[in-house]
Amino acid sequence: AALCSIFLFAYFARSRRQERVHLLKLLEHDALHDSLTNLPNRQLFSDRLAHAIKRSSRDRSFRFAVCFLDVDRFKNLNDSYGHRMGDELLLQIARRFEKALRPTDSVARIGGDEFTFLLDGVSGLNEAIIISERILAALRPPFNTEVGELFMNASVGICLSHSTYRRAEDMMRDAEIALYRAKGHGKGRVDVFNKDMHHQAKLLMQMENDLRHALEKNQLELHYQPLVDIQENRIYGFEALLRWQHPELGFISPDVFIPIAEDTGLIGEIGQWVVQQACLTVRDWNRDFMPQDEFCLSVNLSAKQLLQPDLVSSILDTLTLTRFEPRLLHCELTETAVIQYREQGIRVIDQLKAHGIGLSVDDFGKGYSSLTYLQQYNFDTLKIDKDFVQGMSADGKGLQLVKVMMTLAQDFDLNVIAEGVEDEDQLNRLRAMGCRIIQGYYYSRPRAVKDIRELLSQGLHLDCDALRLNSLHPAPRAVASS
Ligand code: C2E
Ligand code: CA
Ligand code: CA
Repeated sequence: AALCSIFLFAYFARSRRQERVHLLKLLEHDALHDSLTNLPNRQLFSDRLAHAIKRSSRDRSFRFAVCFLDVDRFKNLNDSYGHRMGDELLLQIARRFEKALRPTDSVARIGGDEFTFLLDGVSGLNEAIIISERILAALRPPFNTEVGELFMNASVGICLSHSTYRRAEDMMRDAEIALYRAKGHGKGRVDVFNKDMHHQAKLLMQMENDLRHALEKNQLELHYQPLVDIQENRIYGFEALLRWQHPELGFISPDVFIPIAEDTGLIGEIGQWVVQQACLTVRDWNRDFMPQDEFCLSVNLSAKQLLQPDLVSSILDTLTLTRFEPRLLHCELTETAVIQYREQGIRVIDQLKAHGIGLSVDDFGKGYSSLTYLQQYNFDTLKIDKDFVQGMSADGKGLQLVKVMMTLAQDFDLNVIAEGVEDEDQLNRLRAMGCRIIQGYYYSRPRAVKDIRELLSQGLHLDCDALRLNSLHPAPRAVASS
């Protein structure tokens, strides 16, 4: 009996150990796999990638690639049809990826709709691209779901192995940078990482970080470009244009940092600063140099500012605080901005209008250029984009376009400002069409506050021919802008 119980004990001990081993294996599997698709997760993928990097450092002929894939518009689908349906789609997608791969390749799900691929032993970039395109092609047939057939697309960034790579995360990062590039170039694409991209991505990150402190460090500055009334030969007003003087990167164009400010949510704070600063400055100019009349002031509002619930009240507060008359303020919005956020655009424009503030369509001609569409918005001024003004060459077609814009503006009872006037020829053509307000390098580039004060104190705002000559030979201490 004793012997029997020893056997029994040994038997159970063994089976319990097996059970434990089994349990451990299950736990390990769970830790390394995505529970939804059962594909390897980020951890396991990184381990395999680290192995591949080691192998290629021993064997220089071994090359491989990392692909980073992101399903286009997946979030929209998830939001509109719910998570259950999103999960079902991800499962189907995962199965299709597995089928599309060669036996030596592997796929992992590393986040919501993000998948990574390790293409082992590729001959070079071409093969990696061909496989990536095959992966994308696997998504092309429609997906059968409970809400019917759905069409999916994805973008892929590729990073090819290289002797300089030591760590898995660096290759993943570079594949991801290439992915963003692919998405930026329109969805459903494959893009390949190169060194320039890394440089650009790093720069962008630095700018994002630094922009957060740009205001408090006084690195932002407004320059002002005169709007010239060519009938009266005098300055009618100014457009405030932002400048960022970065301590290491130097001058950064608003075309570059405004989108960053929008993405990081800093545009609200910056936009408010712009209005306040500009109102104070032009109020002082009006007090000091315009005893009879007053300059008006144009400020740019970005698309994302339309989403700010307190945009209108913050502008009105600023006007009160700076004692700047609403009728002298003009807010410029591009047609793309108002079309992008239609309802918010209509509301903001109506509210600003109701308080006597002017509203201009900026860059007209660059976007939809549909005045009938723009009719729903309460704009009072149209700014013809500089590309059209500069396209008014002898061939006649560009000229015709500007003429049509001028006529349309008249029909819709809108004032016109022509932007980007650089030479006398353009000026004369616009004058002949009856255009009254002109903005452009021909009269003056945007200038720093002290330069404008200087020219105002010389009375150049009442004599724009002299203003132009002064622009041709700017004072030596004038700061070059844009
Ligand atoms: P925009 O509103 O169309 O401003 C006019 C741009 O054309 C300015 O560029 C100006 O310097 C430039 N420009 C003026 N005259 C001429 C000319 O004769 N020839 C040429 N080639 N260019 C001319 P800038 O200052 O670089 O600003 C670029 C854009 O950045 C602006 O385009 C505007 O969309 C945006 N921006 C500037 N300041 C602000 C701001 O305070 N807030 C927001 N949201 N956007 C701003
Ligand atoms: Ca503008
Ligand atoms: Ca413009």
